[in-house]
Amino acid sequence: MSVPTESPGTGSYSDWFWWEEVSNGLYLIRERFFEAGKRANIWLLQGSQRDLVIDTGLGLRNLPNYLMSVGLIGTKPVLAVVTNIHFDHSGGLHHFDRVAVHRAEASALMRGDNFETATWLYDWEVKRPPHRGWRAKNYRVQSVAPDRILDDGDIINLGNRQLTVLHMPGHSRGSICLHDQENRILFSGDVVYNGTLIDWLPSSDISDYIQSCKRLMTLVDNNLVVKVLPGHFDPFDAERLYNLASSYVANAGVCHKITSCGARYIASLTLWWKNYGK
Ligand SMILES: [Zn+2]
Repeated sequence: MSVPTESPGTGSYSDWFWWEEVSNGLYLIRERFFEAGKRANIWLLQGSQRDLVIDTGLGLRNLPNYLMSVGLIGTKPVLAVVTNIHFDHSGGLHHFDRVAVHRAEASALMRGDNFETATWLYDWEVKRPPHRGWRAKNYRVQSVAPDRILDDGDIINLGNRQLTVLHMPGHSRGSICLHDQENRILFSGDVVYNGTLIDWLPSSDISDYIQSCKRLMTLVDNNLVVKVLPGHFDPFDAERLYNLASSYVANAGVCHKITSCGARYIASLTLWWKNYGK
């Protein structure tokens, strides 16, 4: 996947963010100078009554100010929701006035718990630092008090669009997907994307992940999804969603659990050292 060096929108070449219109009222935004697979997709969904930003990136630049400057938001209220609180999704939340998060991760976000946000950033991943002397080792997700706590089945109402919250733990305890039932679009966050799925972080759970993948397979079986807009990499269709979810279920056997357990131990130690050990 490569991100164009020129924005297709009105942003200038030097902008930190890049954006494109995916369909009417739906935009993809990326952080151009965060060059790593960890770079999260940021989705903007414009509604008739309010706009929704799904995931917020690292927060090294002010995203709502940028969206305002290029005319993508403005007169309506804006809600920022995270599909999980890992740093690549939640780092920009503190720039927003209104924030929503799943109940299982709300307290960690409020504490600014950088162990649970899995903050894991290197200098070389940020090609254009926000200021002179900036160092990744000092980067932290800031604590944020959410306005709205989400549970499975909740509806986020944008006026002309409704998104249903699907709690899909496994990658993290509070991972969610957002389902636009009318248009059969699934914002899948980190539950599924076109890449190796991660189930070895401190709040990951393989048994939960299997159940979440089975739930995704049921969505496809019932013809409720035609397009998936993931938390990383490029969009894909329902067939690919089914393949990714069913592959995870098929491969999550004993060998995988042992390997994942080892990786989780190392990741937990590393994150503990990065965030508490200095
Ligand atoms: Zn992510």
